Amino acid sequence: MEQSASGPLRVAVIGAGPSGFYATESLLKSREDVSIDILDRLPTPFGLVRYGVAPDHQKLKSVTKLYDRTASDPRVRFLGNVEVGRDLTLEELSRHYHAVVFAYGAPNDRRLGIPGEYLEGSHSATTFVAWYNGHPDYTDWDLSLDDVTTAVVVGVGNVAVDVTRILAKTVEELAESDIADHALAVLARSGVRDVVVLGRRGPAEAKFTTKELRELGELPGVDIVIEPGALDVLPESLAAIEGDQIAKKNLEVLREFSERPAESRARRIHLRFLASPVEIVADASGERVAGVVLERNRLDVRADGSLAAVGTGELETIPAQLVLRSVGYRGAALTGVPFDERHGVIPNEAGRVLEEVGGERVPGWYVAGWIKRGPTGLIGTNKADAIETVACLLEDDLPTPIDARPEAVDEILAEKGIDVVSYDQWSRIDRAELAAGVEAGRVRVKIVSLADLLAAAVRDDDEVKFPRSRE
Ligand code: NAP
Repeated sequence: MEQSASGPLRVAVIGAGPSGFYATESLLKSREDVSIDILDRLPTPFGLVRYGVAPDHQKLKSVTKLYDRTASDPRVRFLGNVEVGRDLTLEELSRHYHAVVFAYGAPNDRRLGIPGEYLEGSHSATTFVAWYNGHPDYTDWDLSLDDVTTAVVVGVGNVAVDVTRILAKTVEELAESDIADHALAVLARSGVRDVVVLGRRGPAEAKFTTKELRELGELPGVDIVIEPGALDVLPESLAAIEGDQIAKKNLEVLREFSERPAESRARRIHLRFLASPVEIVADASGERVAGVVLERNRLDVRADGSLAAVGTGELETIPAQLVLRSVGYRGAALTGVPFDERHGVIPNEAGRVLEEVGGERVPGWYVAGWIKRGPTGLIGTNKADAIETVACLLEDDLPTPIDARPEAVDEILAEKGIDVVSYDQWSRIDRAELAAGVEAGRVRVKIVSLADLLAAAVRDDDEVKFPRSRE
């Protein structure tokens, strides 16, 4: 599209996670006269790279160096600690930007819909992940693992593998990582000996990737337990994964695990398939998790060839004190923005927001990442996804904003008294965390509370020392 002579194309990107950064990068590469504000409700950028990727997977986090480069472009501003809908309304966005790209991810968790799901001790894995990664919304989450000997993890995706690994590792193995201090303290007192991971379908249908699965078998001090017969795969399953190298490799790795002699190590990970939780049972108080009732499943071949888990009626109860439901993330609606409740995404066509599924386009509104396509794929998947969205944006006739000056947005936020955190200020937080890390012999020591993050954002470097919580 042709931009008016009055100034560059102004774009607001909502969400500073991978998809927001890839959309920004694509815009920068595609045209010269562009001016982008990346807004995030947190004072810290990087979304799930900071608050989702496991602390013992630092290599994956190094992708932030690319995002640093994007953010250092003079055409880009980071406006952290700004919540769209509260600090900046949708009307205000329309008044001051030609286009808005919603890239705020899928922050909620899917539900199991079984009795006992919300007993004390039954949590979504997404909460556990956010907590051990020091997300400011979860610093006060009260978790104790002191009396937990058996944990059940529901689901066999990569998040399930992450939480299983964190529960199974020793604190010594995690101590050098950037895991939140509060999580390290709780894990240090953990009584967990058994982690039971439940796949509702068979091993061939598991969603985890091979590298992540293999890592479970490499944990010192941990045995992998697989029931005899659990890897007998139906011919229909084998046919369905014919072209799926990951699923095939997963089966090989699982077979290798199952052939290992039992070593009676300190902790055990039980990988169970064709089993669904049908109820989480309470202890005598009626409030805390005491066990999980499982139903054994069989696989049913649907008309379209897909394989579904069907209960056999055969039940079994596993005593357990902790349940982590790891059955996927779910997108959240942003008031005033169309939302497809069924799929948990903003309805769209190749990234162009639609008024409803199959409906008219909303001029100037776009979507990228998990809130566009659902919570699937690895970090890099978001790059092609964002490029597709940006191509549409640049093709379209966009509405003309009333006042496209960047200062107009600053004025609104200043008037509302919002402590906007710039990228330079985020860099101060970053340096403070790294400095604390050097002192503690760790990758970094994360600053976890919102107040401490905001304080670190405005603190001079020569004042940098441990975050308040460690002083
Ligand atoms: P996921 O890959 O979609 O896995 C969800 C799991 O939950 C599946 O095993 C699914 O089984 C199961 N499930 C869903 N509903 C269930 C129910 N009612 N009862 C029992 N099980 C149920 O989701 P995720 O693990 O949250 O991961 C999200 C995305 O992030 C994935 O693309 C993942 O690869 C990525 N990720 C990557 C890494 C990494 O690279 N290291 C780490 C974390 C996450 P069905 O297949 O039967 O539906």
